[in-house]
Amino acid sequence: MLPHPARKAKSPDRPLFVYPAESAWRQGVGPDTVTGMKKLLVIVAPHPDDECIIGLLPLRLREECGFEVRVIPATLGSRPERRVARKKELRAACSVLGFKADVPPSAARGMIKAQELSERLDAARPQAVLIPHARDGHATHRAVHKLAVAALDRRPWRAWHVVETEYWHPLVRPNLMVAASAENLGLLCRALACHKGEVARNDYAASLPAWMIDNVRRGAELIGGAGFAAPAFPFATLYRARLRAAGRWTAPFRGGKIIESSAELGELAGLLNPRG
Ligand SMILES: [Zn+2]
Repeated sequence: MLPHPARKAKSPDRPLFVYPAESAWRQGVGPDTVTGMKKLLVIVAPHPDDECIIGLLPLRLREECGFEVRVIPATLGSRPERRVARKKELRAACSVLGFKADVPPSAARGMIKAQELSERLDAARPQAVLIPHARDGHATHRAVHKLAVAALDRRPWRAWHVVETEYWHPLVRPNLMVAASAENLGLLCRALACHKGEVARNDYAASLPAWMIDNVRRGAELIGGAGFAAPAFPFATLYRARLRAAGRWTAPFRGGKIIESSAELGELAGLLNPRG
């Protein structure tokens, strides 16, 4: 496994994050050594194309830690005449990223139902589920947050690792900044460009690097802490990792994490162990 090509310089002020439960949850990285099953991430994408925009963490976990990544689109967009094309675009984008598209029948008719999503998640038992955050600045993203949480709450005895994503409105309290190499960014842009109808209307692929540069600026202060020196890497995506169980949110670790190297990513992967 090659090391992540992002630079390794770190500030001496970098916070240490140790939480007693971490060691209890830790498991091996990559395929499960007992069952041989690959670890799985599920992205609940409000629209086809969101899997690329927020896809850095899943991409790196797939490439560097051997995870499988499944994309469940909650909708195929608001325009019925575009839904067949958007499904094809999603499959093309997923094949660039090495993700698998899992399009539920109800998404082709509007929005996936909570029961259907709950059954899919229950069967998949993913290590983590990526969903938009509750205050993202797009009505469909907010609706998908609610729907996904409702789906998780149908299995309240489980502790679900949830990674909340941002795009249309920033997360107020992100706790995870994941660095992107130029290769990661290039692949995400290439995949995003597969959503031809969307980028023709608004070229999200062209603006992705600028967004990821700005994420480093925000992440340095919000996750590194006030006065934290800017990281050496230029591109990143911000997330909020939480645990959902019995209808309540808890923190999977104290403070925040800045994930740059493959070793740091592997430590995070070791925490993603669903219970229940
Ligand atoms: Zn979207």
